[in-house]
Amino acid sequence: AEAAAHQAQKQQAIGQLVSGIAHDFNNMLQTVIVSLSGLQDEADELSPQQRRMLTYAVEGARHATALTRRLLAFARNQPTRPEPIDLGDLVENFADFARHGMGGRVGIDVLRQPGPLPIWIDRHGLEQALMNVCLNARDAMAGMGTLTIQVGDRLLEAHAAESLREHPPARQVFVCIADTGGGMSEEVRQRLFEPYFTTKEGGSGLGLAQVYGTVAQAGGGVEIESDAGIGTRIRLVFPRYAGALYSAV
Ligand code: ADP
Repeated sequence: AEAAAHQAQKQQAIGQLVSGIAHDFNNMLQTVIVSLSGLQDEADELSPQQRRMLTYAVEGARHATALTRRLLAFARNQPTRPEPIDLGDLVENFADFARHGMGGRVGIDVLRQPGPLPIWIDRHGLEQALMNVCLNARDAMAGMGTLTIQVGDRLLEAHAAESLREHPPARQVFVCIADTGGGMSEEVRQRLFEPYFTTKEGGSGLGLAQVYGTVAQAGGGVEIESDAGIGTRIRLVFPRYAGALYSAV
């Protein structure tokens, strides 16, 4: 648990660093762009060669602005706006959307337990996390097979009989994504939440770090079971949200 908390801290630190730099850099770029635009207004007095160079400079600054926007969007993947969400609804909507993104030869089956499954989490962070898990599953299945997504709730197993007398039984809400891919080695299993750890050519190694950070900030955890040749099950587990899902008006 200590190592896990350490990973969450690391992930958060990366997010803060990136957004801080992107923000400051963007401010400096705006100064550059305003100055260059001022020069462009005086373009009549410039030679064609100078005008061309000015155009390149403006274009470069605009590209750089777009990059800072992408960096800010990345940093925003840190959950910042948690709200009450029904995990069953969100997963079903997500699956409808993800079926298109996965490619035609990956199927997604959703098994949803009836009844409300409320959790308290940042919606975009959670959607991103589900997508990261599903993309990994697709990669593990070499683009062909079926993903089974189960969503439901369960009694918190750790609750001792004694505390059950004092408190109502605590429930957890979970979503479990099972693939039929090749599974992973123990060494990979140990390291997969580390930012930048990847076994893929061109992989970022940030997918599961984002998953971990998002789930941990909602007070939840990630459980992984993997069998070589059979597949991997990744379960995101959350405390069940006790408040109302939709506030009555
Ligand atoms: P990336 O996908 O960019 O490599 P991740 O953090 O998402 O980064 O994953 C880290 C590593 O964990 C992957 O490179 C892969 O080796 C392993 N992994 C993740 N999900 C699965 C899975 N469903 N089956 C097998 N291996 C997996």
